[in-house]
Amino acid sequence: MDKDKKTSFDIIVLGGGPGGYPAAIRAAQLGKSVAIVEAKELGGTCLNRGCIPSKTLIAGAEALGRLNDLKAFGITIDKVSVDYAIMTDRKDAIVDKMRKGVESLMAANKITMFKGFGKFISPKEIKVTGTDNAIITADKIIIATGSEPRSIPAFPFDYQQVHDSTSLLEMKKLPKSMVIIGGGIIGCEFASLFTELGVKITILEMLPRILPMEAEVVSEALTRAFQKRGIVIKTGVAVAGVDKSKKGITAKLASGESFDADICLVSVGRSLNTSNIGLEKAGVAVSDNGMVPVNDQMETSVNGIYAIGDIASKWWLAHVATHQGIVAATNAAGKTAHMLYNAIPSVIFTHPEIATVGLSLEAAKSKGYNAVIGAFPFQALGKSQAANQADGFAQVVLDQRTGEILGAQVVGHEASSLIAAMTLAITNELTAECIAETIHAHPTIAEAWPEAVMMGLNMPIHLPPRKSHAK
Ligand SMILES: Cc1cc2nc3c(=O)[nH]c(=O)nc-3n(C[C@H](O)[C@H](O)[C@H](O)COP(=O)(O)OP(=O)(O)OC[C@H]3O[C@@H](n4cnc5c(N)ncnc54)[C@H](O)[C@@H]3O)c2cc1C
Repeated sequence: MDKDKKTSFDIIVLGGGPGGYPAAIRAAQLGKSVAIVEAKELGGTCLNRGCIPSKTLIAGAEALGRLNDLKAFGITIDKVSVDYAIMTDRKDAIVDKMRKGVESLMAANKITMFKGFGKFISPKEIKVTGTDNAIITADKIIIATGSEPRSIPAFPFDYQQVHDSTSLLEMKKLPKSMVIIGGGIIGCEFASLFTELGVKITILEMLPRILPMEAEVVSEALTRAFQKRGIVIKTGVAVAGVDKSKKGITAKLASGESFDADICLVSVGRSLNTSNIGLEKAGVAVSDNGMVPVNDQMETSVNGIYAIGDIASKWWLAHVATHQGIVAATNAAGKTAHMLYNAIPSVIFTHPEIATVGLSLEAAKSKGYNAVIGAFPFQALGKSQAANQADGFAQVVLDQRTGEILGAQVVGHEASSLIAAMTLAITNELTAECIAETIHAHPTIAEAWPEAVMMGLNMPIHLPPRKSHAK
């Protein structure tokens, strides 16, 4: 380490993922001297082992899917082949380029970088061990240490045949078949990606349906789409163990049934990086599940110590980590900001894409709203028909008393982009009328929003009115 490197700062950020590095940038923008401590690579899970590498591979699979669709447009291509090694090289190059971008942002904002593992030794001191070795101090510390794939003792990862999401993303050769244990977001995204690339997929899920955290209508739509594409889905099953041999793996269920495949992905959740970072030395309270409780300013049980990202809320999403980072940095810098969770968009990058924001109908009703759904099928949209993307729907959850938009769900083409409009609407407490009065360009898939809202108001233009509301 450079002997002249400063060791005393206004703010230290521990962890350089999508929570930590934006927090460091915002704190520096607010005039504070800032250090960031990172044990692996800047960009964290999202950039190096999560969002970006997975979505780069998914983009390749989507391109392939579009080629296979071309017949409908009257276009025939004789031979299509996939070179998975080139796909993964492209992924690595994109990750590398974006990581360099984050590194240069640190330099541009005059943030001091410490490469190494950081641990609290007191409420205001972090000991860094690694490439850099130092004890650094600050008045305010933001913890952003994130999470790792969770291992199950009955079938531990060997990273060759039994993979976690990280080693699966590093795989250079496509298997012929794969068992995916866990039908949550990560399991479903990988199922969708690899089925598109010709891998035979079986999903084993313990709960009664895949995507158990999503609205039932969304989970059912994905189940139908997956089954149409040949994915085998077994729900309500407990995996007792995974046997390995030269030929591949066998996932054994508690019921005695078993499933053979070349490899297996275990995607059953994440472990939070809070157990070995000296939180006890700082006096920071930690829950039994490893989460760090925070208030709406992202402050922990200790004044001046903040926690953000996967360790600090149930939303394990990069954009939530980033927003929490900005809130924490603003408060740590002496200004005031609060974190709100009523309009968090969540996208599942399967084929079809799924995107949700705010409340589902079930959640709205359980909160006491007199809520109604307005839903519009992509079948009835000119643009969806023109693009040969007519499967799917957009729906809004409306409060019948005030007309306020409480939630929205989309399944289908461009869902990831479409959800932004309803996120803006919910954040700004817009009503159904605001959306109905907003002129949407034609023909676009975004026209689904005014149509869905008008369905909710039972004044549809392009569908017959719902019978129950008809006069
Ligand atoms: C396969 C996969 C796909 C995903 N796709 C999406 C997606 O499409 N969209 C989305 O929003 N989210 C996605 N996520 C989730 C997203 O990656 C996480 O929610 C997000 O990265 C959390 O950010 P974070 O800053 O809290 O932690 P992390 O990104 O985990 O970063 C924490 C950083 O802290 C470092 N660190 C930990 N402990 C220490 C220490 N003691 N000292 C120094 N450094 C330390 C780590 O090395 C790491 O770089 C995906 C996750 C996975 C696994």
